[in-house]
Amino acid sequence: MSVTREDILKALSRVVDPASGKDLVTADYVRAPVFQDGAVRFILEVPPEQAAKMSDVAKAAEAAVSALPGVESAAAIVTAHGPAPQAPKGAPEGEAPSLKIGRHPQPQASKKIDGIHRIIAIASGKGGVGKSTLSANLAVALARQGKRVGLLDADIHGPSQPRMMGATERPKSKDGKTILPLTAHGVTFMSIGLMLPAEEAVIWRGPMLMGALQQMLTQVEWGELDALIVDLPPGTGDVQLSLCQKAEVSGAIVVSTPQDVALLDARKALAMFHKLETPMLGLIENMSGFVCPKCGHESDLFGQGGVAQEADAIGLPFLGRIPLHLDIRTTSDEGTPIVAKAPGSPEAAPFEDLARRLIEGGVI
Ligand code: ADP
Repeated sequence: MSVTREDILKALSRVVDPASGKDLVTADYVRAPVFQDGAVRFILEVPPEQAAKMSDVAKAAEAAVSALPGVESAAAIVTAHGPAPQAPKGAPEGEAPSLKIGRHPQPQASKKIDGIHRIIAIASGKGGVGKSTLSANLAVALARQGKRVGLLDADIHGPSQPRMMGATERPKSKDGKTILPLTAHGVTFMSIGLMLPAEEAVIWRGPMLMGALQQMLTQVEWGELDALIVDLPPGTGDVQLSLCQKAEVSGAIVVSTPQDVALLDARKALAMFHKLETPMLGLIENMSGFVCPKCGHESDLFGQGGVAQEADAIGLPFLGRIPLHLDIRTTSDEGTPIVAKAPGSPEAAPFEDLARRLIEGGVI
């Protein structure tokens, strides 16, 4: 049985914190509720003076969530806000500031980010389906078709864009506050993976991720962009939520392989983006039909067309089919996406067509 974020919040809205007289949701204490394998985890983020007095409230919160059908255990972690934010001190000359672990998202007046005209999010139900491959190639294809394009790798648990775009140096800064992005294949590029050691990234959760994402959106000197392509982590988690809440996302594209379409749960992604008032632009099928690199013969290794059927079933546009081809992988591994390495080739064509459709459709 699946327990949703809404179920958890509903249960927590029945628990009152005596210090504030408000329930935990109204008091805005609840962060990053997750349900996995029968267990619910969430963070209660409270004012520092209250942290020591929260143990009874945390127990009551755990009991309320444990009572939900399908929940076998619940664990609350109490954290306190840090002290009021200080003016940034700045990193040493020429170095980009570090992303701070535990830095929470700061209030932001508008969802519009200066200079960025459109944001396109690339999402998937699970990892390994080609979300990063699509993001990189779409960004390069748009740039080659004359657009000013940025690519933000927000896949914190598996940032692969530095490898795919062939840009791995740590970004610099002019003033120790803002971050200068890299440029690769005509695309302005930034990856969360360039800013922190890999072993730290994997332990980031909820509010930390949201703070880091906000920094990436607002502290990076993106300049004037027609479109920023955001390579999201797989699934429907905090980064997705945060991106759509903090920034005006013009649309989301969901990628799946034919054999993963059953697991994709496109309806879940659709429901999430709908709730966040982000339009879903459509579904893409990747690794659709295997093209033999020697003879060019195409065989349906994993089946074909399942994603188009799913798009049809839920009333979304089907945006195209990308074949499974060795060159798509090797070019990515070498740091030059196929669209840059072999423009106009049959393997580059689906990405180039998608870019053209987005431009002609007025999305970008
Ligand atoms: P995700 O971002 O969804 O985790 P990736 O884009 O990193 O997935 O792709 C996973 C692996 O599959 C990578 O090694 C990538 O080069 C390879 N790959 C992705 N799409 C294709 C394709 N159409 N043909 C061949 N290999 C592909």
